[in-house]
Amino acid sequence: MKDLTTLLADVDDHVRVALDVPPAEIDRGDYLDVTQLPTEPRTWHKLSDTLAVLADMKNSTKLGKNKSTVATASIYDAATGGVVHVFSDFEADYIAVQGDGALALFWGSRRYERAVCAGITIKTFSADSLVPRLEKKWPDIAMTGLKVGIGNSPLLVRRIGNPRWGAPEPVWAGHAVNYAAKAAQQASRHQMIVTAGVWNWISGNEYLTLPCPCLAPIPPIWMDATIFRLPEGDPDRSGKLLLREWCPVHGPGYCAAVLAGQSARPDAGGRARAPAILARKRFERRWRRAVRPVPGAPPGPAE
Ligand SMILES: [Zn+2]
Repeated sequence: MKDLTTLLADVDDHVRVALDVPPAEIDRGDYLDVTQLPTEPRTWHKLSDTLAVLADMKNSTKLGKNKSTVATASIYDAATGGVVHVFSDFEADYIAVQGDGALALFWGSRRYERAVCAGITIKTFSADSLVPRLEKKWPDIAMTGLKVGIGNSPLLVRRIGNPRWGAPEPVWAGHAVNYAAKAAQQASRHQMIVTAGVWNWISGNEYLTLPCPCLAPIPPIWMDATIFRLPEGDPDRSGKLLLREWCPVHGPGYCAAVLAGQSARPDAGGRARAPAILARKRFERRWRRAVRPVPGAPPGPAE
């Protein structure tokens, strides 16, 4: 180490430059290969609209109670391993493992489709597979399960880190990651909460908004969920909470249809269309008042 005075002067100098000199920004639109991200200093790469999906375990700090370190490690392995597997199957453009969960980012073509279907699949994995297995093995386990949050926004990225420990990690700046984390924090186990920006896209898709024929009498499958951890007045705060998992009978077909870019369900007769259009108009008015670009606007989910 240098002497302490020099070290503190160096980091102070770094702060001064970082705050006084605006960093360079390269607009990448909808395309970026993170593995090829250059490491030049103070240059950020901008993605126009990106979805962040965050999944982590409820009560993760209590999971290790009365258990060996190996048992706790295997719980993390089961949860994180499953989440990462789902994210890669839905072709996430970036995945970061975070302890008992993971963050995935989706940009470019069919980003809304891939991100939302991945989120529902993780919710289904949590309720139908992960937690039943954990509870069978450890009947005294703390109440747990995966919580999912999804947000969207433009993002800036650059690599920051110490090359001594391998390639510096990408650091992401922008609302999406933070908002997905706040939405996930608010969720309970097996729940998925999306911000209003993400709901604006989902609301136009009958495969995602209408219950399948197995569910009768027809209940709502989403409910309003104000994301209290987001600032008041932020249009993204009026989120939605998904109440159902993929149906074992209809889920595979619906998921495939969404990923193929379909939004009109042949058996729905346009039932979700009119209310969705009205809701979208309301949403876009609110968004414009907040002077933010309307998410999902072209280039958008309809591509
Ligand atoms: Zn069904």
